[in-house]
Amino acid sequence: MRNQNPKSETRNGITEDPLKIEKAERLKLLPPYLFKEIDRQKEQVRAKGIDIIDLGVGDPDLPTPSHIIEALKIAGSDPANHRYPSYSGMADFNSAAANWYKGRFNVDLDAGREVVTLIGSKEGIAHIPLAFINPGDIAIVASPGYPVYHIGTEFAGGESYFVDLLKENNFLPDLEAISPEVAQKAKMMFINYPNNPTAAVATKSFFESVVAFAREYNVIVCHDAAYSEMSFDGYSPISFLEVEGAGSVGIEFHSLSKTYNMTGWRIGFAVGCEDIISALGQVKSNIDSGAFQAVQIAGIAALEGDQACVEDMRQTYAERRDILVAGLRSAGLSVEKPRATFYLWVDVPKGYTSAEFASLLLTKAGIVTTPGNGFGAAGEGYVRMALTVDRERIREAVERIEGIGL
Ligand SMILES: *Cc1c(COP(=O)(O)O)cnc(C)c1O
Repeated sequence: MRNQNPKSETRNGITEDPLKIEKAERLKLLPPYLFKEIDRQKEQVRAKGIDIIDLGVGDPDLPTPSHIIEALKIAGSDPANHRYPSYSGMADFNSAAANWYKGRFNVDLDAGREVVTLIGSKEGIAHIPLAFINPGDIAIVASPGYPVYHIGTEFAGGESYFVDLLKENNFLPDLEAISPEVAQKAKMMFINYPNNPTAAVATKSFFESVVAFAREYNVIVCHDAAYSEMSFDGYSPISFLEVEGAGSVGIEFHSLSKTYNMTGWRIGFAVGCEDIISALGQVKSNIDSGAFQAVQIAGIAALEGDQACVEDMRQTYAERRDILVAGLRSAGLSVEKPRATFYLWVDVPKGYTSAEFASLLLTKAGIVTTPGNGFGAAGEGYVRMALTVDRERIREAVERIEGIGL
C-alpha cells in the first residue's frame, strides 16, 4: 500500500503505526517514466469517448499458433511437469534451441554447455549484468534502445555509457567514436538487431567490427536477437554468432515471444560463449527456478514444428507495414520502410518535439504512438509506431492522420 505520509491508521479497529518505507537508491535512480504524460492524455481522450487506435505497444495482437497451445495442454496435464524444473532448462529444450540454431544460422552449439533457457529473454538480459558488472563498471548501451540493458546494468551497480544510434550511420553505433578510456573500462556491451525501436538491421561487417572491438578491449558482447525472424521481402537477418570469433566474445539472446506470438508465455534462451552462458546460469540458479516445463515443451513444439506460422506472421506484418508506410508518406510524413521488426520509426515533422507530436496524434486522431525520446535521448525527433493492429485499423489510422492536415 502507499505510504508517503507515515501516520497512524486505523484498520479493522486496530491502530497501526506504519513503517517509513524508503525505496532503495536503485529504484530512486530509475529514469522518470516518460510515458506517464501519454498515459494521462490517453485516459483523457478515452474518457471523451474517442475510439483509440493503439500503436504504442510492441506486443503481437495475433494468437499463439494452435499446435503450440495443444502441446502445452498435454504437457500441462502431466504431473512430471508440475515439479521444479532445472534452472538451466530441460535438456530437450536446450537441444531444440541448438538444433534450431543449426538449421537457421548453421551455427554449431553444444546444447549442454552453450545454451541456457530463459523465462523470456528480458529475464536473461536483466540478470546478466549481475554476473559481470562490479560497482562502477561500464556497459555500453545504445540510445535509443530497449530500456532493460541500461536498467539491468544500473541495478547491478554499473554505469551505462550511451552510444547514439543515428540515421546517418544507419542506426548502428559508431564504435570508433567511443574513447579508448571508456572502452578500456567497459565490461559489457549490448546490441540489438533487427533493432527496437529504430527497425534498423545489422550488416555482417558491423558484427565483425563488434568482434574486433570486443577483442581489443576485452568487452563481453550481448546481442539481443528477439526480432531475428520478423523480417520481410525475403531478407533474412544473420546471427551475431555466424561471425568468426563471435562465439568466444559473446552470447545471443533469443525469444519465442515475437516469432510465435508467445509474449505471455515467458520463454526464451541465450546461446554462445560457454563461460558467459554458465555465469548467467549461475546467477539464475540463485534467483529463479527455471521456466515451467510445460511451457518449455510447448516451446519445443514451436521450434521443431511447422514453421509456416512464422511465414504467415511475416506476411501479416509486411502487409500492415506497406499500408502504414504508404499512408504516412501520403500524409506528408517521412519514414523508412523497415526490412525487419514490427515497428516504424517515423520522423517527427518540423516544429514538434517527439512528445508534442505523439500528443498531437493522440488528441487530434486518437492514435497512440511512443515518443522516441522514451527510448533514450537520441530518440528525440522520432515516434515509434507498432504494427500491432489489423489492416482495417491501420487504414483507419491513416485516414485519421491524413485528416489532421500535417
Ligand atoms: C520484445 C523484446 C524482447 C523479448 O522479450 P521477452 O522477454 O522474450 O518477451 C527482447 N528484446 C527486445 C528489444 C524486445 O523488443
